[in-house]
Amino acid sequence: MNFNLLRPKQVYHSILEISPEELFRTGMRGMIIDLDNTLTEWQNPVLSEKTISWLEKAKCLGFQLCFVSNNSTRRVQEVAQRMEIPFVARAQKPRRWSFRRALEIMGTRPEETAVIGDQIFTDILGGNRLGLYTILVPPINRREFFGTRLMRLLEAIILFKRR
Ligand SMILES: [Mg+2]
Repeated sequence: MNFNLLRPKQVYHSILEISPEELFRTGMRGMIIDLDNTLTEWQNPVLSEKTISWLEKAKCLGFQLCFVSNNSTRRVQEVAQRMEIPFVARAQKPRRWSFRRALEIMGTRPEETAVIGDQIFTDILGGNRLGLYTILVPPINRREFFGTRLMRLLEAIILFKRR
């Protein structure tokens, strides 16, 4: 196991702290965005006003966006349709097919595509395996599966080891 694959390229406190302008300036043209605990609370279909504006701004700059989520089609579709953003559901992250599918949908190359997510073992690992620009944000809240909580513990250990 290559531990570098678990390291995000960037860490922010929230997706709202990420500057789409800056990402665009560095050459990014696509963003693969996780849903649960990255954009909204687990299973909550309503995005905050700020989150909606952030997504709209990214679109206006010329970014291609795609939601990639391990959650059900029904769950992801509800948010995606409202925002008119394409999606890949039941993605089985960190498996690579869903990230590849998102690149295909967006028409962007791996080196010009960012992945934004709250989990090292799905979002970051999957993105790094394809050479995407991986950005980690902490989970929005703690309403989540116990299994996910367990993974957080492992994530904390790995983040600690980075220092
Ligand atoms: Mg998530």
